[in-house]
Amino acid sequence: TRTAGIEKLPLAEGSSVKKVIGIVSGKGGVGKSTVCSLLASAMNKEGFHVGILDADITGPSIPKAFGLLHDGVALSEDGKSMVPETSNGGVEIISTNLLLENETDPVIWRGSMIANAVKQFWQEVEWKEIDYLFVDMPPGTGDVPLTVFQSLPIDGVIIVTSPQDLVSMIVEKAVRMAEKMHVPILGIVENMSYLLCPHCNEKIDVFGESHIEELCQKEGLELLAKLPIDPQNASFMDAGAVEAIDTKESLKDAVACLKRLIK
Ligand code: ADP
Repeated sequence: TRTAGIEKLPLAEGSSVKKVIGIVSGKGGVGKSTVCSLLASAMNKEGFHVGILDADITGPSIPKAFGLLHDGVALSEDGKSMVPETSNGGVEIISTNLLLENETDPVIWRGSMIANAVKQFWQEVEWKEIDYLFVDMPPGTGDVPLTVFQSLPIDGVIIVTSPQDLVSMIVEKAVRMAEKMHVPILGIVENMSYLLCPHCNEKIDVFGESHIEELCQKEGLELLAKLPIDPQNASFMDAGAVEAIDTKESLKDAVACLKRLIK
């Protein structure tokens, strides 16, 4: 029922996911995984049952942000499916990074292998009564994100950008890709938008003035959040304590947007 003319993969027997949210970016390094972790944690704190399917195997890992150990993935009792790892706060996470023996091991995979791993994470994982499954998509607009888009029944995407992206039309590419896939764009999060001076609290536009509002207007998209560069957040993430970051104010519009999807 949720297909857009393309055959979507079914979930494992007994699994259920209400809404699948893709977190996408036009290129790597804009903070997509960070924003994905923060959004998942924020929705979890709102009382929803949240999962993360980490399909971005190239970036620093989601498991690390949630303080999960890289010690393999458990199997279900019947041995037929994988069981996600659960964070302290209760977010269910599956990631290729959990399968690496050393978290510093490089993942040298072909695009097709990545796409297959992602399909397995959808079909062969026990996703038990998940309200929101966040998919940290592979960065960019190439083959791998396209295959993931085609395989999973994504209900909507959130595009993560940084101010520099706007200059090079990278965001527009991400917008066009979602349109081509007939997936609704829920809105845009601008990350590393500005810096707050720790001494005088002045807002510094490190990358020059932001043009995100203009872009949102031009494309008819909702601006869901503008997140500052925050060294403290980066150290929380490194320490595996993403759930300790307070996003009540900064992500309130994004949370409201996501809540509207489940009435
Ligand atoms: P992507 O998933 O787009 O490749 P990441 O989320 O991995 O990007 O972020 C890249 C790096 O930037 C990480 O080291 C992360 O901790 C840091 N980072 C991301 N967003 C912020 C922010 N708002 N403030 C400070 N550091 C950030």
